[in-house]
Amino acid sequence: MQFLLHHTVITQAIANNDHKTLKQFRDKNSAGWVLSNSLAAIHSDLSQTMKTDAAHSAVKKALKGIAVASLTGPEMLATPPSPKMDFLDALAVRTVEVFQLDGIITLKPEVFAQSKIRAIQPDALSQVLKEGLATVEKVPLLNIPATYPQIWNEVEQEMSEVVRSGYFILGPKVAELEKQVAAYCQVPYAVGVSSGTDALLLALMAADIGPGDEVITSTYTFFATAGSIVRTGAKPVFVDIDPVTFNMDLEQTKAAITPQTKAIMPVHLYGQCVDMAPLNDLAKKNKLWVIEDACQAIGSEFKKQRAGSLGDFGCFSFFPTKNLGGFGDAGMVTTRSKELYEKMKVLRVHGMEPKYYHKMVGGNFRIDALQSAVILAKLPHLEGWVNDRRTNAQNYDKLFKKFSLTERLSLPKEVFPRHVYNQYIVRVADGKRDALREYLNGQNVACEIYYPVPLHLQECFKELDHKKGDFPEAEKAAAESLALPVANEVTAEQQEYAVEKIKTFFA
Ligand SMILES: *Cc1c(COP(=O)(O)O)cnc(C)c1O
Repeated sequence: MQFLLHHTVITQAIANNDHKTLKQFRDKNSAGWVLSNSLAAIHSDLSQTMKTDAAHSAVKKALKGIAVASLTGPEMLATPPSPKMDFLDALAVRTVEVFQLDGIITLKPEVFAQSKIRAIQPDALSQVLKEGLATVEKVPLLNIPATYPQIWNEVEQEMSEVVRSGYFILGPKVAELEKQVAAYCQVPYAVGVSSGTDALLLALMAADIGPGDEVITSTYTFFATAGSIVRTGAKPVFVDIDPVTFNMDLEQTKAAITPQTKAIMPVHLYGQCVDMAPLNDLAKKNKLWVIEDACQAIGSEFKKQRAGSLGDFGCFSFFPTKNLGGFGDAGMVTTRSKELYEKMKVLRVHGMEPKYYHKMVGGNFRIDALQSAVILAKLPHLEGWVNDRRTNAQNYDKLFKKFSLTERLSLPKEVFPRHVYNQYIVRVADGKRDALREYLNGQNVACEIYYPVPLHLQECFKELDHKKGDFPEAEKAAAESLALPVANEVTAEQQEYAVEKIKTFFA
């Protein structure tokens, strides 16, 4: 739950040297916000008993880990003053409403009695939390605003810097993000791009892949994997998956190599790496490029090496539902090669080098400076979120065992640590998957099918002349897999609720 802290609560905690009260609001389950307008009130209250310097550092210390909420100008102007409430309190009510917080923590709940918001005494918090967490009403796949208390101050700071500078295309924020993502992925270079799809396209273009070439990839993946191959004029050559990891099968990859093959595009599906050691051997022997589709796998590892450092190119997406999402579309290509890095930077801006001189035809594949700012602010939290996802996955495993459901559905296996669980996929056999999904959605438990139709059966690829039965494991996975909510913000109570509903379905 998320609460606005009335300035009197903060002032009192500081004056009483009480660290406990505010500590409660640096928690995932009870995050705290403070209204920016009330900072002045806190300072002036404290300055009656403290020196200005001491008050300033005490406020800064007290507000560490608390998000500062600002209303926009129009929101403030639209807030009507009330004879029963001072204007700062009216703004607080407005803040709780527009930020959709669960209430205000205040020493005087009666002040807010006329408003529609919930006003809670600090002492009553533990009871409110207990009830709030216990009453699960729905389990969404994703709740992006749930992480705002963790990231808000930095996101706002980074975005404001970009807007105030007026520097929106490439520039320092993009360069900084590239440097930090490269370091995170254990490579020297990274190129920020407009999406994960464009990351794949740019990597293929940098590898000079085009008409007459073949690229081997999985048939069981998001469309963009193969779509980007087709857009270069090359032919995607599909292979089936390993049923345990959902990733492309090595033997079939070997068998699919022809004289036209130029590259292999392994997809680290759902956040678990492909078995990269034998795949890289195969590529080396046949002089093939390896382009990792790591769009679901930032932070994923194969033998302690990060996704994006395992092939010639690593392609990432910052689509909002990925483990590291922006506030819109964005992507990144990582590489260990300085030469490929330089080439991609030129291809990203229409092959232009120097300005208005074009040796190659590229595209507009630039990442937005604003998206870079958001992702830069979120990146320091990624490891924590990965750990939360892994904890959630382990918790599901335990719950399915506890509820004796492992005969009814099969659980995902971590074959190559570390799995980052962009999705937690169970398999439901005997044709019961769709009914289970419908039942869960009816019980307000979100779940999703990734992906209902493998790529070899998509209409746009009918010229590749595939038919049902060509890749039986992918077709089986498409019929059986179901993604359950596993994102970092999903609570243990929500997981238990979801698994109880699954138990009821099978009972
Ligand atoms: C999300 C995704 C992409 C495409 O990323 P966008 O940023 O949406 O363009 C490509 N491949 C896979 C496996 C993905 O999950």
